[in-house]
Amino acid sequence: MATTSCDVAIVGAGLGGCFLALMLSRRGQRVVVIEQGPSVPSAGADFLKPPGLQVLARHGLADLAGRHGLRRDVVRYYHDGEPIQECHYPDGFLIRPYRELVELIYTCCAMEGVDFWFDAGVDDITMDEGRVEELALSNGRRLRAGVVIGADGTRSAVRQALDIEPRTMPYDRLLMRVATVPLTASIARLNRLYFSSEGWFAYLYPLSRDQARVFVGLPPEDEEVIFQDGIPALTDELKKFVTESSDAFDWLRSATWQRIKVSTLRLGAYHKGNAALLGSAAFACHPMTGMGMSYTLRDAEILADVICAAGGDGELLDRLLSAHYEPRKHAHGQLIDYGDALVATFPDRDAYLAAFRRDLHVFGEAALPTPGPAELPALQPI
Ligand SMILES: Cc1cc2nc3c(=O)[nH]c(=O)nc-3n(C[C@H](O)[C@H](O)[C@H](O)COP(=O)(O)OP(=O)(O)OC[C@H]3O[C@@H](n4cnc5c(N)ncnc54)[C@H](O)[C@@H]3O)c2cc1C
Repeated sequence: MATTSCDVAIVGAGLGGCFLALMLSRRGQRVVVIEQGPSVPSAGADFLKPPGLQVLARHGLADLAGRHGLRRDVVRYYHDGEPIQECHYPDGFLIRPYRELVELIYTCCAMEGVDFWFDAGVDDITMDEGRVEELALSNGRRLRAGVVIGADGTRSAVRQALDIEPRTMPYDRLLMRVATVPLTASIARLNRLYFSSEGWFAYLYPLSRDQARVFVGLPPEDEEVIFQDGIPALTDELKKFVTESSDAFDWLRSATWQRIKVSTLRLGAYHKGNAALLGSAAFACHPMTGMGMSYTLRDAEILADVICAAGGDGELLDRLLSAHYEPRKHAHGQLIDYGDALVATFPDRDAYLAAFRRDLHVFGEAALPTPGPAELPALQPI
């Protein structure tokens, strides 16, 4: 089969890959997105916080994203059944199932003429002098690109080809399950996040006008008992610390509980030569921060600027990625540390309240001091 050439090849059609593809194609780059699945990913995050909404707004997408989503502006936190605090979002946040959000950006990409190759996993990546030379795909096609982006999730094939070692830390003291249930009156009223001093949590929130999501976190020794012996035991445990959402309990018996594995991921480098990593291929934090998508959208914005400013010059691309993209490690590292702190402290009310940072929850990295003096080469507008 013939080899195809393009300006930018993006591996992975998740939020990061699709959003970057849109940014680049709007600026005249020929982009091919390669996705191993038959469509954009079906499962993932539900909350888009203010920093992510701001990124979408800068590119005329916030209204579109919000049109069929739910806007909320407060989360109430409980400890051993008692309310301990509320976190208010002055401009609200968006609840929208991941697939819908990614599909929306995918549709915008399709209108811009981005080429998507589905059912096309990466089989092999040929490297030459530290640069990605060619991608061989499971459907037999071959692809060459000036720039290659690994937006291919936590097990990134691009990251492996670049020989960038991941530092992964599973949250093995806190297992998580999620179920989708019919919306109840209490969940419609308020997002409620319950913690217990026994190391459990339960988060109940609306997903749409008729469905709700219930996340449960629990210690591994409890998980073995609760999910082997049946759902009624789960309800009995929840009754001990979930005090204002009992109208959801009946639905939990018949719900399908999906197990979710969560780990942190840190890297020493985000790029090599003409290739860079984006989204969950580059970093992963605990979902309690609710910020993974927001940071990924901002990262994609920066990558688009860098790629366009480099204008096909490989050496300049390498320098601009070092100067503008690698420093993202700092913000990601702080977010990962913050997620760790939330997970480590939630069974202890006072420790959790001391660790909780409303500014980080609401404003994300805008709440953090920027690292060092910005002695960076300016990005040229194109
Ligand atoms: C349980 C959980 C809840 C979360 N909740 C939130 C939240 O509420 N708010 C928030 O902001 N963030 C949340 N996050 C984080 C958020 O999901 C990520 O930041 C975001 O999905 C990153 O997008 P992505 O495009 O990098 O990855 P993904 O959506 O994982 O996309 C990667 C894509 O690459 C494809 N792929 C993988 N390997 C290959 C290959 N070899 N060849 C071709 N394609 C390949 C995959 O099929 C997939 O489609 C949560 C994360 C978890 C784990």
